Amino acid sequence: MAETNISSGGRPALPMQGVPQPSRDEVLGLPRVHISTHPVMAHKMTSLRDKNTQPPEFYRLVKEIGALLAYEATSNLTLESVAIETPMEPMIGQRLAGGIGVTPILRAGLGLAEAFREVIPDVQIWHLGLRRDENTLQAMEYYNQLPHRVDLQVCYAVDPMLATGGSAIDAINILKRRGIPRLSYVGIIAAPYGLLKLSQTHPDIDIYIAALDESLNDRGYIMPGLGDAGDRQFGTL
Ligand code: URA
Repeated sequence: MAETNISSGGRPALPMQGVPQPSRDEVLGLPRVHISTHPVMAHKMTSLRDKNTQPPEFYRLVKEIGALLAYEATSNLTLESVAIETPMEPMIGQRLAGGIGVTPILRAGLGLAEAFREVIPDVQIWHLGLRRDENTLQAMEYYNQLPHRVDLQVCYAVDPMLATGGSAIDAINILKRRGIPRLSYVGIIAAPYGLLKLSQTHPDIDIYIAALDESLNDRGYIMPGLGDAGDRQFGTL
Protein backbone atom coordinates (compact mmCIF):
# COMPACT_ATOMS: atom_id res chain seq x y z
CA MET A 1 0.00 0.00 0.00
CA ALA A 2 1.41 3.42 -0.99
CA GLU A 3 2.02 5.96 1.75
CA THR A 4 -0.32 8.93 2.11
CA ASN A 5 0.27 12.36 3.57
CA ILE A 6 -1.83 15.34 4.58
CA SER A 7 -0.50 17.69 1.88
CA SER A 8 -1.84 15.35 -0.84
CA GLY A 9 -5.29 15.32 0.74
CA GLY A 10 -5.06 11.70 1.86
CA ARG A 11 -4.13 10.43 -1.62
CA PRO A 12 -0.90 8.49 -2.15
CA ALA A 13 2.01 10.99 -2.21
CA LEU A 14 4.27 8.75 -4.28
CA PRO A 15 2.16 5.97 -5.74
CA MET A 16 4.90 3.34 -6.16
CA GLN A 17 6.72 4.12 -2.90
CA GLY A 18 7.19 0.93 -0.92
CA VAL A 19 5.43 -1.21 -3.54
CA PRO A 20 7.35 -4.48 -4.08
CA GLN A 21 8.52 -4.96 -7.67
CA PRO A 22 9.73 -8.07 -9.48
CA SER A 23 13.25 -8.07 -10.93
CA ARG A 24 14.07 -8.35 -14.61
CA ASP A 25 15.18 -11.95 -14.12
CA GLU A 26 11.84 -12.86 -12.56
CA VAL A 27 9.89 -11.82 -15.68
CA LEU A 28 12.32 -12.80 -18.44
CA GLY A 29 10.76 -16.24 -18.93
CA LEU A 30 7.11 -15.14 -19.12
CA PRO A 31 5.16 -16.93 -21.86
CA ARG A 32 4.10 -14.96 -24.95
CA VAL A 33 6.44 -12.07 -24.13
CA HIS A 34 8.72 -11.12 -27.03
CA ILE A 35 11.67 -8.83 -26.26
CA SER A 36 13.67 -7.63 -29.24
CA THR A 37 17.28 -8.81 -29.45
CA HIS A 38 17.99 -7.09 -32.77
CA PRO A 39 21.20 -4.99 -32.79
CA VAL A 40 19.60 -2.28 -34.95
CA MET A 41 16.86 -1.97 -32.33
CA ALA A 42 19.44 -1.66 -29.53
CA HIS A 43 21.23 1.06 -31.51
CA LYS A 44 18.05 3.08 -32.09
CA MET A 45 16.96 2.62 -28.47
CA THR A 46 20.13 4.31 -27.22
CA SER A 47 19.41 7.38 -29.36
CA LEU A 48 15.78 7.38 -28.22
CA ARG A 49 16.68 7.28 -24.53
CA ASP A 50 19.35 10.01 -24.76
CA LYS A 51 18.08 13.16 -23.05
CA ASN A 52 19.72 15.28 -25.75
CA THR A 53 17.50 13.78 -28.48
CA GLN A 54 15.04 16.51 -29.45
CA PRO A 55 11.33 15.93 -30.24
CA PRO A 56 11.53 15.80 -34.09
CA GLU A 57 14.32 13.18 -33.92
CA PHE A 58 12.58 11.40 -31.03
CA TYR A 59 9.34 11.06 -33.03
CA ARG A 60 11.25 9.80 -36.07
CA LEU A 61 12.96 7.17 -33.87
CA VAL A 62 9.62 6.09 -32.34
CA LYS A 63 8.35 5.46 -35.87
CA GLU A 64 11.47 3.55 -36.89
CA ILE A 65 11.41 1.42 -33.72
CA GLY A 66 7.65 0.99 -34.20
CA ALA A 67 8.17 -0.29 -37.73
CA LEU A 68 10.63 -2.92 -36.46
CA LEU A 69 8.15 -3.90 -33.74
CA ALA A 70 5.29 -4.02 -36.26
CA TYR A 71 7.35 -6.30 -38.50
CA GLU A 72 7.97 -8.62 -35.52
CA ALA A 73 4.42 -8.52 -34.17
CA THR A 74 2.81 -9.29 -37.53
CA SER A 75 5.06 -12.26 -38.29
CA ASN A 76 2.34 -14.81 -37.39
CA LEU A 77 -0.66 -13.23 -39.15
CA THR A 78 -3.02 -15.49 -41.07
CA LEU A 79 -2.83 -15.47 -44.88
CA GLU A 80 -5.35 -16.51 -47.52
CA SER A 81 -4.71 -17.62 -51.11
CA VAL A 82 -5.62 -15.33 -53.98
CA ALA A 83 -5.42 -15.90 -57.74
CA ILE A 84 -3.58 -13.16 -59.65
CA GLU A 85 -1.85 -12.78 -62.98
CA THR A 86 1.72 -11.56 -63.22
CA PRO A 87 2.76 -10.03 -66.57
CA MET A 88 4.12 -13.53 -67.32
CA GLU A 89 1.37 -15.96 -66.20
CA PRO A 90 -1.39 -16.68 -63.64
CA MET A 91 -0.31 -17.66 -60.13
CA ILE A 92 -1.72 -18.16 -56.65
CA GLY A 93 -0.49 -15.47 -54.29
CA GLN A 94 -1.25 -14.77 -50.65
CA ARG A 95 -2.73 -11.83 -48.84
CA LEU A 96 -3.58 -11.02 -45.23
CA ALA A 97 -6.85 -12.69 -44.22
CA GLY A 98 -9.11 -10.22 -42.40
CA GLY A 99 -8.50 -6.70 -41.21
CA ILE A 100 -5.73 -5.50 -38.94
CA GLY A 101 -6.57 -3.02 -36.19
CA VAL A 102 -4.24 -0.78 -34.23
CA THR A 103 -5.39 0.94 -31.05
CA PRO A 104 -3.06 3.74 -29.98
CA ILE A 105 -3.51 4.66 -26.35
CA LEU A 106 -3.58 8.46 -26.56
CA ARG A 107 -1.55 10.35 -26.87
CA ALA A 108 1.81 8.58 -26.51
CA GLY A 109 0.70 5.65 -28.71
CA LEU A 110 0.22 7.82 -31.81
CA GLY A 111 3.80 7.46 -33.08
CA LEU A 112 3.62 3.67 -32.89
CA ALA A 113 0.25 3.66 -34.69
CA GLU A 114 1.81 5.73 -37.47
CA ALA A 115 4.63 3.18 -37.69
CA PHE A 116 2.15 0.32 -38.13
CA ARG A 117 0.38 2.32 -40.80
CA GLU A 118 3.63 2.73 -42.72
CA VAL A 119 4.22 -1.06 -42.62
CA ILE A 120 0.58 -2.00 -43.41
CA PRO A 121 -1.16 1.02 -45.03
CA ASP A 122 -4.68 -0.40 -44.75
CA VAL A 123 -4.71 -0.93 -40.97
CA GLN A 124 -7.74 0.44 -39.14
CA ILE A 125 -6.75 2.90 -36.38
CA TRP A 126 -9.05 2.73 -33.36
CA HIS A 127 -8.19 5.65 -31.04
CA LEU A 128 -8.55 5.18 -27.30
CA GLY A 129 -7.91 7.90 -24.74
CA LEU A 130 -6.75 6.64 -21.36
CA ARG A 131 -5.21 9.08 -18.93
CA ARG A 132 -3.45 7.91 -15.81
CA ASP A 133 -4.13 9.72 -12.58
CA GLU A 134 -0.68 10.84 -11.37
CA ASN A 135 -1.60 10.18 -7.74
CA THR A 136 -3.30 6.80 -7.92
CA LEU A 137 -1.79 5.65 -11.28
CA GLN A 138 -5.29 4.39 -12.22
CA ALA A 139 -6.18 4.65 -15.93
CA MET A 140 -9.30 6.68 -16.81
CA GLU A 141 -11.01 6.50 -20.23
CA TYR A 142 -11.69 9.93 -21.74
CA TYR A 143 -11.97 9.19 -25.49
CA ASN A 144 -13.15 6.17 -27.44
CA GLN A 145 -13.41 5.95 -31.25
CA LEU A 146 -13.82 2.19 -31.54
CA PRO A 147 -16.21 1.29 -34.38
CA HIS A 148 -19.28 -0.88 -33.76
CA ARG A 149 -18.59 -3.21 -36.70
CA VAL A 150 -15.64 -5.52 -36.05
CA ASP A 151 -14.05 -7.39 -38.97
CA LEU A 152 -10.50 -7.78 -37.72
CA GLN A 153 -8.32 -10.87 -37.44
CA VAL A 154 -6.16 -9.09 -34.86
CA CYS A 155 -5.87 -5.78 -33.04
CA TYR A 156 -2.68 -4.33 -31.56
CA ALA A 157 -2.94 -2.06 -28.52
CA VAL A 158 0.07 0.25 -28.80
CA ASP A 159 1.61 2.44 -26.11
CA PRO A 160 5.36 3.08 -25.81
CA MET A 161 5.73 2.74 -22.02
CA LEU A 162 4.47 -0.31 -20.12
CA ALA A 163 4.97 1.08 -16.60
CA THR A 164 2.42 -0.09 -14.00
CA GLY A 165 0.39 -1.87 -16.69
CA GLY A 166 -2.87 -0.08 -15.75
CA SER A 167 -3.60 1.49 -19.15
CA ALA A 168 -2.53 -1.59 -21.10
CA ILE A 169 -4.77 -3.86 -19.01
CA ASP A 170 -7.73 -1.50 -19.39
CA ALA A 171 -7.18 -1.14 -23.14
CA ILE A 172 -7.12 -4.92 -23.60
CA ASN A 173 -10.28 -5.25 -21.46
CA ILE A 174 -12.04 -2.68 -23.68
CA LEU A 175 -10.89 -4.44 -26.88
CA LYS A 176 -11.89 -7.86 -25.54
CA ARG A 177 -15.45 -6.59 -25.08
CA ARG A 178 -15.49 -5.93 -28.88
CA GLY A 179 -15.01 -9.65 -29.57
CA ILE A 180 -11.80 -9.35 -31.61
CA PRO A 181 -10.41 -12.88 -32.09
CA ARG A 182 -6.76 -12.01 -31.37
CA LEU A 183 -5.18 -9.21 -29.37
CA SER A 184 -1.58 -8.18 -28.85
CA TYR A 185 0.17 -5.40 -26.98
CA VAL A 186 3.11 -3.55 -28.55
CA GLY A 187 5.30 -1.18 -26.55
CA ILE A 188 8.83 0.20 -26.60
CA ILE A 189 9.99 -0.11 -22.95
CA ALA A 190 8.48 -2.25 -20.20
CA ALA A 191 9.13 -2.28 -16.47
CA PRO A 192 9.10 -5.76 -14.88
CA TYR A 193 6.16 -4.71 -12.67
CA GLY A 194 3.84 -3.73 -15.54
CA LEU A 195 4.95 -6.59 -17.73
CA LEU A 196 4.12 -9.13 -15.02
CA LYS A 197 0.74 -7.50 -14.31
CA LEU A 198 -0.25 -7.41 -17.99
CA SER A 199 0.94 -10.95 -18.66
CA GLN A 200 -0.86 -12.36 -15.59
CA THR A 201 -4.10 -10.44 -16.23
CA HIS A 202 -4.20 -11.26 -19.94
CA PRO A 203 -2.25 -14.52 -20.45
CA ASP A 204 -3.99 -15.01 -23.82
CA ILE A 205 -2.27 -12.09 -25.60
CA ASP A 206 1.18 -11.67 -27.13
CA ILE A 207 3.33 -8.83 -25.81
CA TYR A 208 6.03 -7.28 -27.99
CA ILE A 209 8.56 -4.82 -26.58
CA ALA A 210 11.89 -3.38 -27.65
CA ALA A 211 13.48 -3.36 -24.16
CA LEU A 212 12.89 -4.53 -20.61
CA ASP A 213 14.14 -2.01 -18.03
CA GLU A 214 15.05 -2.32 -14.34
CA SER A 215 12.20 -0.88 -12.28
CA LEU A 216 9.69 1.90 -11.64
CA ASN A 217 10.65 4.87 -9.50
CA ASP A 218 8.38 6.05 -6.67
CA ARG A 219 6.33 8.16 -9.12
CA GLY A 220 5.76 5.22 -11.47
CA TYR A 221 8.28 6.25 -14.14
CA ILE A 222 10.41 3.60 -15.81
CA MET A 223 14.12 3.52 -14.86
CA PRO A 224 16.37 4.09 -16.72
CA GLY A 225 13.55 4.60 -19.26
CA LEU A 226 13.39 7.68 -21.45
CA GLY A 227 11.25 10.13 -19.46
CA ASP A 228 7.75 11.04 -20.62
CA ALA A 229 7.17 9.47 -24.03
CA GLY A 230 4.22 11.77 -24.84
CA ASP A 231 6.06 14.98 -23.98
CA ARG A 232 9.17 13.90 -25.85
CA GLN A 233 7.22 13.01 -29.04
CA PHE A 234 5.10 16.14 -29.09
CA GLY A 235 7.50 18.74 -27.68
CA THR A 236 5.48 19.53 -24.54
CA LEU A 237 8.45 19.28 -22.22
N1 URA B 1 4.87 6.96 -19.12
C1 URA B 1 5.95 7.57 -19.66
O1 URA B 1 5.84 8.32 -20.61
N2 URA B 1 7.16 7.30 -19.13
C2 URA B 1 7.34 6.46 -18.08
O2 URA B 1 8.47 6.26 -17.65
C3 URA B 1 6.19 5.85 -17.53
C4 URA B 1 4.97 6.11 -18.07
